[in-house]
Amino acid sequence: MKKPITSKTLESIGFIRDLGRIQTCNLLSRNQVHYSVMLRGHFCGCKYILFCYNDKINYKINYISPMNTIEDFIRDIPNFPKEGILFKDIAPLLQSPKGVRLCLEELLKLIEGQKIDKVIGIESRGFFFATLLAQKLNAGFIPVRKPGKLPYKTLTQSYALEYGEDAVEIHIDAIEKGERILIHDDVLATGGTAEAVCKLVEKLGGNIVQCNFIMQLNFLNGKDKLKGYDVKSVLEY
Ligand code: AMP
Repeated sequence: MKKPITSKTLESIGFIRDLGRIQTCNLLSRNQVHYSVMLRGHFCGCKYILFCYNDKINYKINYISPMNTIEDFIRDIPNFPKEGILFKDIAPLLQSPKGVRLCLEELLKLIEGQKIDKVIGIESRGFFFATLLAQKLNAGFIPVRKPGKLPYKTLTQSYALEYGEDAVEIHIDAIEKGERILIHDDVLATGGTAEAVCKLVEKLGGNIVQCNFIMQLNFLNGKDKLKGYDVKSVLEY
């Protein structure tokens, strides 16, 4: 009886380790070549599928396509952080200079031609591109954080979650009256967080020019909470 191949077996073969971030390892049903295993991996900015046959430890790499679109760098993690949530992970995007460049270019296109004084990044995944955007737009960067993280005097805005409440905070001197503000986060889901950030900005007298996101999850209708604002994203799901 042949032993089924596991991802550990495959990673013990040096060549396979070269594939780097192995995304999935599915044991497929038996076929004419006994157990066959399919792995998807990223290496040198390209997508690969690897087939491995355990009778001969015979492997073959199929080149699929270069990682050309931003979508290629977004990894879906089912049931994270809890059951039923499909988490849109931007870690592969951040690990790729090409991915970051592509995404930054697209985010800049969304705001093209508009003067911006400050870019707000929403903790924590909003920080990455908000700082890059701020540099490119010759604007300042403002972090909006979870309660208790900012060291100076803060303004707090709470918002409803499915069960319970959460809150966001901003430094009270972060915005001057009339400043033109771009709000940025990685994902627009239900819109509760971004709506709370809009309230903070307006309480400090800021003028919200746009709320932009790497992606919006349309089925959660986050845009409905941001009526009256210019809401844009690079990707829509
Ligand atoms: P919401 O207030 O529901 O729009 O949630 C937005 C915040 O939660 C953002 O800061 C996102 O980073 C995070 N978030 C919500 N849903 C997801 C998801 N499916 N994948 C990744 N991040 C998410």
